Amino acid sequence: MAGFDVIIVGLGGMGSAAAAHVAARGKRVLGLEQFQPGHTQGSSHGRSRVIRLAYFEHPAYVPLLRRAYELWRKLERDTGRQLLQMTGGLMIGGPDSDVVSGSLRSAREHGLDHEMLDAAEIHRRFPPFTPRQGIVAFYETEAGLLFPEESNQAHLEVAARSGAELRFEEPVTEWRMLRSGAVEVRTTRDRYQTERLILTPGAWASWLFNIPWLPLTVEPQVLYWFAPSGGAVPFAPARFPIYIWDVGGGVQFYGFPADDHQRVKVAFFRSPAKDEHSMRAALAPCIPALAAGTMLESVSCKYTLTPDHHFVIDVHPDSPKVVVASPCSGHGYKFASVIGEILADLATSGATRHPIDLFGLSRFR
Ligand SMILES: Cc1cc2nc3c(=O)[nH]c(=O)nc-3n(C[C@H](O)[C@H](O)[C@H](O)COP(=O)(O)OP(=O)(O)OC[C@H]3O[C@@H](n4cnc5c(N)ncnc54)[C@H](O)[C@@H]3O)c2cc1C
Repeated sequence: MAGFDVIIVGLGGMGSAAAAHVAARGKRVLGLEQFQPGHTQGSSHGRSRVIRLAYFEHPAYVPLLRRAYELWRKLERDTGRQLLQMTGGLMIGGPDSDVVSGSLRSAREHGLDHEMLDAAEIHRRFPPFTPRQGIVAFYETEAGLLFPEESNQAHLEVAARSGAELRFEEPVTEWRMLRSGAVEVRTTRDRYQTERLILTPGAWASWLFNIPWLPLTVEPQVLYWFAPSGGAVPFAPARFPIYIWDVGGGVQFYGFPADDHQRVKVAFFRSPAKDEHSMRAALAPCIPALAAGTMLESVSCKYTLTPDHHFVIDVHPDSPKVVVASPCSGHGYKFASVIGEILADLATSGATRHPIDLFGLSRFR
């Protein structure tokens, strides 16, 4: 049976990053993935992901984001790929909405550059937005988008270059602790032993983690690409930012500038509504050129949610040699670079300098 220092199960956003970081530390790494790279069954496809610094979800994410930005830029240099596109970012809503007040809280706590814009100023600077009076926006320049397929590929490239064995179309069917203290991993093709196991299976976490009391739910989310009525020029990345818009009633949607093919992507972030009709209805008062646009494409992608929408990154409660990570709840991709580093820390030394208290499993016990 082949033996490894670290096996990583799931080579999506987080697993590819973990493979790159662990392999770069000189460890014998095996990465196992049930599908091909770039597949569309999980959570890391769809061409773009928002990245932003003044994190409205909680100020504790900001130091992680600072390191994530650094690592994404390093990955760009190491692989010669463009992974980031900085466009600036707007968090739009009422002054008391989570996206606005939470961003302000993070910015104040961490001294982040930002501006507050009123409705007229939002429309003046970014004409496709038509906010009603009373709506405001938190604006920061340190925001933009990431290309997830390229980024996963870049991490896999670094992992392979550092000697990691990466096996695709090889689903893991079982893992268990051996009496020797090692971990055995079984797949549809083979059996392996490892000193440490990292589980980053995305939407398949409930089954693979095997932590019966962990309340994860998987929710499909649809991404839409529109050709705006009146053309895509006002949506060009040089003049149109990424944004999240809280329209009240628990509904938030977000979007991106036009891509190289003049397609403008939008999606619900948090909302019970799911279809094209409700997407257009939400857009109509806010970005009428998109609401009246032609829908070009839609793709479904999986959120893996915790009840508090914070991540899970911890050591397995029954198996101290196993590290589990479910950094999703619809907002994890931007952290993949730093989460790779954290998982490598936990698997190789049992601790990390990064602040991950928010992500402990014990909060669900
Ligand atoms: C529609 C949508 C929009 C999003 N927008 C944003 C955004 O704008 N910004 C942001 O930061 N985040 C965003 N997110 C969240 C982000 O994309 C996820 O947090 C991230 O992709 C999760 O990565 P992951 O590695 O956990 O999952 P994945 O990338 O899905 O990887 C898990 C991998 O594990 C593999 N696997 C599972 N079980 C097994 C097994 N038994 N054997 C072998 N392999 C296995 C799967 O095939 C998969 O490849 C969004 C998510 C979605 C769905």
